Parts: sequence; C-alpha cells; structure tokens
Amino acid sequence: MGKLEDEIKRRRTFAIISHPDAGKTTLTEKFLLYGGAIAQAGAVKGKKNSRHAVSDWMEIEKQRGISVTSSVMQFQYKNYCINILDTPGHQDFSEDTYRTLMAADSAVMVIDASKGVENQTRKLFKVCVMRHIPIFTFVNKMDRESRNPFDLMEQIESELGIQTYPVNWPIGSGKEFKGVYDRDKKHIISFEASGGQHQVAATEVDLSDPSLDSLIGEDLHSTLCDDIELLDGASYEFDIEKVRKGELSPVFFGSALTNFGVEPFLENFLRLTPTPLARVDSLTGESVDPCRDEFSAFIFKIQANMNKAHRDRIAFMRICSGKFERGMEAYHVQEGKNIKLATGTQLMAQDRAIVDEAYAGDIIGLFDPGIFSIGDTLCTGKKKVEFAGIPTFSPEHFARIEQKDTMKRKQFVKGMEQIAQEGAIQIFREVGGGMEEVVVGVVGVLQLEVLEYRLNTEYNVEIRMQQLPFEQLRWVKNDPDTYNLRDLDLTSDTKAVEDMKGNRLLLFTSDWAIRWAETHNETLELSEFGNI
Ligand code: GDP
Repeated sequence: MGKLEDEIKRRRTFAIISHPDAGKTTLTEKFLLYGGAIAQAGAVKGKKNSRHAVSDWMEIEKQRGISVTSSVMQFQYKNYCINILDTPGHQDFSEDTYRTLMAADSAVMVIDASKGVENQTRKLFKVCVMRHIPIFTFVNKMDRESRNPFDLMEQIESELGIQTYPVNWPIGSGKEFKGVYDRDKKHIISFEASGGQHQVAATEVDLSDPSLDSLIGEDLHSTLCDDIELLDGASYEFDIEKVRKGELSPVFFGSALTNFGVEPFLENFLRLTPTPLARVDSLTGESVDPCRDEFSAFIFKIQANMNKAHRDRIAFMRICSGKFERGMEAYHVQEGKNIKLATGTQLMAQDRAIVDEAYAGDIIGLFDPGIFSIGDTLCTGKKKVEFAGIPTFSPEHFARIEQKDTMKRKQFVKGMEQIAQEGAIQIFREVGGGMEEVVVGVVGVLQLEVLEYRLNTEYNVEIRMQQLPFEQLRWVKNDPDTYNLRDLDLTSDTKAVEDMKGNRLLLFTSDWAIRWAETHNETLELSEFGNI
C-alpha cells in the first residue's frame, strides 16, 4: 500500500448520537483519554465553559453555555486516526445535527440503560437508516439500576426496526453490577467499584469456572447461564454484512463514568466499523474510490459568525477521496471555477488547529467568504465528480415572521436568505406570495431565537414573530403543472406553502392530519425529505 492508501485505511469517521444525558460526552471523553488526546477526565466537559474565552462565539451561546453548532474532533488511538462528529442533543438540536450524520461512515448510539430508546435518538436514527450506515449501540450507566436487558434489546428492535446482536451481556446492574460476559471470547470481565474511586478491575474468568459463584454470586451466575443459553438460542447471529448495511446493531453494555467496558467497546467498534466509505458520483452513478489520487469533498455544514466583526463563515467539508493540502486548488463544481482552498481548520481534541494536510475520511473547516452552499462538491483531476445534494429535513417548529420597519425590507430579505443559505432555518412563503411575511421552519426551537438575535445584531432588523401550531412538513412530489393543491381534501388546519425554489409543501399540525391527507387524496405523493 502506498502512503495515501495507508493514511486513508487507518481512518474511522463516526457520529455519536444519544438523547441528552445518556452519557455521550462522558463516553467521548473516555475515548479521548484512551487515545491520549486529553490528560484528564473533565476536559471535554470543561470545553463548554472554556471555549468562550478562545473564540468570539455567538452571544447567545455564551449566555447559555451551550454550543449552537455541532463540532468535530480528531484523535489517534493505536494506529487508528479517529474523527468523531458530535451531534448536539439539547434544545440546540438543529438541522445541522441531522446533516452531520451525512458526513459520518457509522454511528454510535448511546442509550441510558434505565431509560432505553428516547425521543432524540429516534429522530437521529431515522437518518442513519436512510443512509444504511452501521449503527453500534452502547448501553450506558450499568452501574445504576437498569431495565431488563432483554427488554432493552426488544425495544431497540421494535422501535428502531433494527436487529440487535449483544456482543457482551451484563451481569446484574446498579449496586449488583458485576461486569459483562463476552460472548465471543466466552469469558467474564468483572467490575469492581472500589471505595469512591470506581476503579475497574478487568479480571477475566471463564463462564464454567467454579470460582464464579464467589465472584458474582450464585444467583447472578445461574441467571447469566440462563441468559446466555437464551441468547445463543434465540437471538440473531452475528453477520458483518448486516452490520455494514445498518440492519444489525452490535450492542455493548458498560458504564462510561466508571470506565467500564469502554475500551473493549472501542476496540471492537474500530475493528468492525468501515474505513472511509466510497461516495457516489451523481454524474455517473459510480462510486468514487476514497484511495484514488484525485481529491474530492463535499460541504455538509456552514457555520456563521466565528468572528462577528467580519461576518465570515466556516464551511465544513468531508473529504471523500485523495488528499487535502493547504493552499491547493480545487474545482468548485457548483460555481464552475477553480478556487484556492486557503485555510483548513480542524478541531484536535479541544483545540482548533490549522491543518496542512488531511485525507479521505477527515473533516475540516474551510474559511468561507460566502461562496459555499451546503451540498457543494470540490474536486481535482480531469474528470469532474459531483456528489448528490444533502436532503433537507422536516422542521418541527414553525413561526410567522414579519419585519417591524417596512423600510428595512432589503436588509430583512438579505438576512433571511443568507441565514437560510447556511441551513440553520428553512423559509417558506404563501404559494405565489412575496417576502413581506415569511414562514420559518426549524428543527430545534432555539434556532428561532438565534434567528431573531442575528437579524437584529447582524442586519439591524427587528422582527415580529408568531409561533405557528404546525409540527410537521411534507414535500409534495406531484407535478406542479398538473396537480393543483387547491383541489386537495385537507383538514382545515393544514397549510400549503412553497419554498424559495418554488417547491410546494404542506404544513401539518399532527400526524393525524398527515394521515388524513394521505387517505383522502389517493394520488398525493408526500416526502419527508426534500432536496436543497
Ligand atoms: P450527554 O448529555 O449525553 O453528553 O451526557 P453526559 O456525558 O454529560 O452525562 C450526563 C450525566 O450522566 C453526567 O452527570 C454524567 O456524569 C452521568 N453519567 C455518564 N455516564 C455515566 C455512567 O456510566 N454511570 C453513571 N452513574 N452516570 C453516568
């Protein structure tokens, strides 16, 4: 293998998804500790507070102590080069969170053992399923009272529609948590909470070892033997092909806080998760080999306001093939011209650094003077490639927005359009209407506040905002020339709008209203994802 191929093959790029408080930050931090990227626990948590000192971040972010946009971290573990894409889960959940998954090659789903599958996980999961990427499950907080592990497997399978394969199996939980049984190696890794330190002793004992009764107790020993028999007989077989297609999720039990089961998880995950996946060139329909010499990448996220004074932006790109070198020229497909890729920045553990080179699988931020849009392709070489656009996701919160001072119409329109271009909000108008009054759709409700704040501070526009009762949106796929929305039989609270490209959509107040539309209008074709 050449150096290029070596570099690419050692890369693993994945997103971590979870419901808030399931333990995503703690798990990420433990990964970084194993990789030697940080020296002590608490460093990642501290990021939330200390970051304000180093970057001129948005005021709203400072006030709340949360990050409005998701971030990327790179670190080394053994011979692997790992890129973790963080997906914010709190009220800062936004369309960016979904888009981040477009840049990942697999996902790690962290579940709180006492809660099981929660709402936010469900939403993100849908995007993983759409992309058919592998999904690995880490059932966290086993040191606390957990739900029955069989029930948890059942819930993952029925609610998320994916098969599960427990790679290891817990022995008790909470105060009674004794460790896990490794089904492949057929041995036990025992957990010992010593004093207040929660140190872990990973003693390895065979299941048939008579000393097991004294180690985990007779009851747990016999439960474990029953459980394993049941699992071996009734659960799905391990099948790497199914894992790769995202049909079977390998499941691991552990406790991120006490460091239990984290390293075995990381080792297994890195072994099973794919090297950078080939992306499809939509011009030819062919896969672009990540290890080819020519560089290619796409933009999946644009982050505004890194420095308020300059209104500059950072465009995040996922490299799909070849190598990036600082200062290189690449062809910007959507603009139809060559551009110089000036600065690349990367988040190494917690510090932002300038990158001189990066490889397929990596994610870097490019300085963007306003030329990039989400979904744009960059490439080098004679034969141009173009990656398929990134879908837009159905917003869940809607508001009607008008400017207070009609004299500032120009700034209002400019502000709305620029912010929409970054992808933080989606804007709609009445079918055939103008921009006097705009309906805004967002995935996370915080985005509405961010919008108001930014229009005010960056564009000097004050707005009136009225939240609307819609909760869902569907793109109408029928031909606009022949299919008239006025003829539809809809509930009275359903509203038809169009986006800035003239695509038609319907806004609904409930799932029930969507089902009404579908059952009362046989030929109506609705889609949950649109195209930017
Ligand atoms: P996130 O919101 O998903 O990033 O969750 P955090 O990593 O911030 O964890 C939320 C809370 O759960 C914190 O107080 C953690 O200390 C705690 N926590 C995380 N992992 C574990 C675990 O394995 N066991 C226990 N008992 N608490 C945990």
